[in-house]
Amino acid sequence: MAVQTVAGNATTAPVDLGPAAALSCRECGERFELGPLFACASCFGPLEVAYDLPTGSPEELRKRIEAGPDNIWRYAPLLPVPSDVAEKPNINPGFTKLVKADNLARELGVTGGLYVKDDSGNPTHSFKDRVVAIAVEAARAFGFTTLSCSSTGNLAGAVGAAAARAGLRSCVFIPHDLEQGKVVMAAVYGGELVGIEGNYDDVNRFCSELIGDPLGEGWGFVNVNLRPYYGEGSKTLAYEICEQLGWRLPDQIVIPIASGSQLTKIDKGLQELIKLGLVEDKPYKIFGAQAEGCSPVSAAFKAGHDVVRPQKPNTIAKSLAIGNPADGPYVLDIARRTGGAVEDVTDEQVVDAIKLLARTEGIFGETAGGVTLGVTKKLIEAGVIDPTLTTVVVNTGDGLKTLDAVSATSQATATIKPSLDAFRAAGLGTA
Ligand SMILES: *Cc1c(COP(=O)(O)O)cnc(C)c1O
Ligand SMILES: [Zn+2]
Repeated sequence: MAVQTVAGNATTAPVDLGPAAALSCRECGERFELGPLFACASCFGPLEVAYDLPTGSPEELRKRIEAGPDNIWRYAPLLPVPSDVAEKPNINPGFTKLVKADNLARELGVTGGLYVKDDSGNPTHSFKDRVVAIAVEAARAFGFTTLSCSSTGNLAGAVGAAAARAGLRSCVFIPHDLEQGKVVMAAVYGGELVGIEGNYDDVNRFCSELIGDPLGEGWGFVNVNLRPYYGEGSKTLAYEICEQLGWRLPDQIVIPIASGSQLTKIDKGLQELIKLGLVEDKPYKIFGAQAEGCSPVSAAFKAGHDVVRPQKPNTIAKSLAIGNPADGPYVLDIARRTGGAVEDVTDEQVVDAIKLLARTEGIFGETAGGVTLGVTKKLIEAGVIDPTLTTVVVNTGDGLKTLDAVSATSQATATIKPSLDAFRAAGLGTA
């Protein structure tokens, strides 16, 4: 694996990424200096950020966090970002609503408390703003001038917006056949958007080649050579959920899987909170959600395998359509270690779940949200998710970006002349 050097960054002064101390290999534990590296030079295992975490009392840290800004920077002491991050031009995502979903709970028979963490409230309407906000700080620290990514849709929009705000150039890559809402959202911020004739796994392979080529020199690919930093953004979902529950761990949490990064980092975030004494050390279960048309991790989980066999995706849940998920094996570990599960649902169940969430809680999620709630419902019915325990379902995106999923069955109830007679004839007056 070639070690990426950053053009124009001749100094060897250590970069300031706050409490981030080094990169460490997830497989062999070898440590590397902070830099735009993503694979271990010894064993090719994925690298992740290792920290010097705060050492004060939990009460002190809790107070410091609560006094911070209403976005992910309140958790800056636990993230690979400079301490003055809140003053830099960034899209400042996070602190989205944790909705107590009582209507949905009644419908699903959940008595232990059901919550929807609604990440459609982020600046570009998906959870991807969290990971990109961190990657932007790493890109700045390493002197990159172009921000890039391979994307299933939402990431491209988040990169475009964050680059615009940070004053960086962006050039992002997507499969050519994405939903119109994702394409427009990725293009509107003025960066370059390239449709690749192929699926996400083809896009990703192309980006890996570009990184090794002079054409891609000076480029920070948020989910490739900046991946260790990018991934840390998902920890903020864990922090927020626990803080919003009153510094309590949920008993069960249901998370969608594309590459599996989000799920593994939410687990990392929960572990850190326990280690820091910010929450009580008690068991929790993590459940992963996939669409049947792209279910490599769910298939491996159900077959009892440790390896994930790649699939060719075919589902309306395009934001989750990664047939060869990089973090798949780690997702399997976490689901098994915590006593959770990985399950999948059909596209029809995805649509039903999107409408169920909208009808019961007034939240319009994208297809990934339909996958997550669909799996939640399926696992409750199967007796795998315990309805008497506190459960959090993560809605990671906005239904306005995937209108096609529900447009056929969500139209005007009636179209009438502007007269009371016409309204009466339509039978829609007082019941
Ligand atoms: C990217 C994405 C995910 C999952 O991402 P991972 O690659 O598993 O981290 C989930 N939901 C939405 C809406 C996404 O865009
Ligand atoms: Zn290694």
